[in-house]
Amino acid sequence: MNPTPPPPGTPGLSMTPIGVIESDYPDKFGIPRQPGLATAARACLVLTPPFDDPLAVRGLETFSHLWLTFVFHQSPPRWTPLVRPPRLGGNAKVGVFASRSTHRPNRLGLSLVELLEIDTRRGVRLRLSGADLVHGTPVLDIKPYLPWAESHPEARAGFAPAAPSRLPVDFSPATEATLAERPDGDSLRELIRQVLAQDPRPAYRTGAESRTYGVRLRDLDVRFRAVADGADSIRLRVVEIVSVRGA
Ligand code: SAM
Repeated sequence: MNPTPPPPGTPGLSMTPIGVIESDYPDKFGIPRQPGLATAARACLVLTPPFDDPLAVRGLETFSHLWLTFVFHQSPPRWTPLVRPPRLGGNAKVGVFASRSTHRPNRLGLSLVELLEIDTRRGVRLRLSGADLVHGTPVLDIKPYLPWAESHPEARAGFAPAAPSRLPVDFSPATEATLAERPDGDSLRELIRQVLAQDPRPAYRTGAESRTYGVRLRDLDVRFRAVADGADSIRLRVVEIVSVRGA
């Protein structure tokens, strides 16, 4: 039976964000393409009134993982039926509904993140690990994750059958010195390693090259290059770490 289409003139559904994300990712570039790939990434979901009522999260602390439904607010409000997943090198096309593309109808995203802590001293702040969300992302809903209902490791996953491969990452002596001076130096080194291991460069860039790339993490611009690592492999080398605080 064909579903009854909404009558003409039915207003689009309007939704009210329940909160906003504060994250280690000031920019979209370089953010891992799925949650859990960079567990060192810190984020905080700050609930906004009237949803910042501690009663609304009573019992949530007994769950370790949450589903976040959010809006790709930095994606244009337009979509195409076919998209080019980076996982396929940026050339092959698949249907938008066969992808986790950020360019989709209604611009809705879904991420499974780890809940580290709930802070209800002033409103409600949920400290999260491993989120793949840019700073400022509006969140529409939170749901506790139910592994007995939602975990299907046997499932088929099309063109993305497993987590992306990771590249080795190393640091120049100067960047090691910069990290050593920072109070968050250890967590930052792990964050940089985990983010760069995903190879944030455009999908068609695979080999060593002289070009320097920059990815924004926390208050820093982390600059790196792809260098040869033996005959036919590469590693990413952090060559400069620049503070952009107040930039
Ligand atoms: N896990 C989610 C999903 O499957 O719906 C997101 C997957 S999407 C491929 C992940 C990418 O979305 C990140 O690498 C980042 O570049 C982008 N992104 C994160 N937050 C965004 C936002 N608020 N607006 C637009 N793009 C965003």
